[in-house]
Amino acid sequence: MSPSKDSTLDFGVFYNIVDGKKRTGIDVHHGVNPVTGDELWDCPIGTQQDVDDAVTAAKKAFPAWSATPLEKRKEMLRKFSDLFSAHSEEFTTLLCKESGKPRKFAGIEVAGVNDFIGWHCSLNIPEERLEDDEKVVTTVYQPLGVVGAICPWNFPLILAIGKIAPALLTGNCVIVKPSPFTPYTGLKLVELAQEIFPPGVVQVVGGSNDLGAMLTIHPGIAKISFTGSIATGKKVMESGAKTLKRVTLELGGNDASIILPDVDIEKVAPEVVMGAFQNSGQVCVATKRIYIHQDIYKPFLEAMVKFTKSIKVGSSDEEGVLLGPIQNQMQYEKVKGFFADSKAKGYKFAAGSPDITASKGYFIQPAIIDNPPNDSRIVAEEPFGPIVPTQPWSDEEEVIARANNTNTGLGACVWGKDVAHAEKIAMRLDAGSVFVNSWEKPTPQAAFGGHKESGIGTEWGTRGLISFCNAKAIHVYK
Ligand code: NAD
Repeated sequence: MSPSKDSTLDFGVFYNIVDGKKRTGIDVHHGVNPVTGDELWDCPIGTQQDVDDAVTAAKKAFPAWSATPLEKRKEMLRKFSDLFSAHSEEFTTLLCKESGKPRKFAGIEVAGVNDFIGWHCSLNIPEERLEDDEKVVTTVYQPLGVVGAICPWNFPLILAIGKIAPALLTGNCVIVKPSPFTPYTGLKLVELAQEIFPPGVVQVVGGSNDLGAMLTIHPGIAKISFTGSIATGKKVMESGAKTLKRVTLELGGNDASIILPDVDIEKVAPEVVMGAFQNSGQVCVATKRIYIHQDIYKPFLEAMVKFTKSIKVGSSDEEGVLLGPIQNQMQYEKVKGFFADSKAKGYKFAAGSPDITASKGYFIQPAIIDNPPNDSRIVAEEPFGPIVPTQPWSDEEEVIARANNTNTGLGACVWGKDVAHAEKIAMRLDAGSVFVNSWEKPTPQAAFGGHKESGIGTEWGTRGLISFCNAKAIHVYK
């Protein structure tokens, strides 16, 4: 049976969802459309009571849900995926409104929800068996209980489903907390899920940052799956430690891209630019430092500048738009700070302007900073916006050391015609995901996580699935 659209799903009214029911709130907040600066719909601000009730409902639902056969849980996830597909147009429009993304890229994120669910449904929960003369030891992976899924604003749908799908597949119940900047698609996604899953299995409580803290400290929650900034990640870990929660932390990065001298400049330079400016640079694994071999530094930078100047920045539905605005005002001011600092220090803008033209929305034309010093803010910190530095290199050992000389280690790229050589460099980069001859394109099939302060643990891939489980070894003596 093909899924039909639920006539009661209204994309103009938003609720928290607790125990299968819609909840309003005494207090409300709203997002802002970053294209226009206009206020969007009101959403309830969840309270401690909402969190407590959600945990109670999840604990009540857990025994039956975790005992539901895996194949049945997969069947329900697939049904949910079909139902979501039937609403993909509405979700795309909603995502454009809350994030400002160009429609094409919002559509890719929406389609990614089905890809994530589909991939997870192809997995089985592993089991390991070891036998010797004396005994058989079987290691099984069992669900933890109630999972809190705390999400950021840059990919509100993908990063939510990347937590929901493995949590549900492994038999956990999950409480989602969307970012206050982008609450809408997350709230609607979980509201839609109520048509498929029993009450309490998947819930959502949105509103403020305080809710995140309430989840991390709640004794009824077994695990926090968190994606966001390093600073907040540290608070999550500290707070979760009080009840020894399992935590997965997917945090920020300062990804290096190393360009070897044998690359095809015309082909690679635009790709490297895309790696830096995809989603207007608001990507944890965007390229944030570009190291170009000195023999090709000038022509490579020229090709990057040429492509950057051709990029159209604008609103979601404008023809030919590649980049949207910065998602929120706080981030807009932060990114402007990197432009102002680069201007004040006299760094050279190879592309873009040091002065950002004021507009109704939070638009910024992308900028490339030509060879700022190693200790400049633009090299040392994560701007999370469309501004990137380039620097020349000549010695391979030295550039590897420079790429690794950071407290983060999320992603990295190596570009070169000699793939074996590029792979050797990739092996030496201290990052959770390294891409050879591609900009950063994480996929649900591969483990995703950060080294150093970029995170703890991994999500996605089969390893990600296991992170939602306790390992249990059963020793049977003969
Ligand atoms: P953020 O840390 O400000 O917020 C993330 C989430 O945490 C939000 O839902 C927020 O409400 C919640 N929160 C705030 N204070 C909290 C607290 N004390 N306890 C618990 N939760 C709390 O991050 P952001 O600005 O939304 O996202 C941008 C950052 O996220 C960037 O640094 C980016 O690199 C990183 N990021 C990482 C990944 C990854 O997978 N590694 C993916 C996307 C974004």
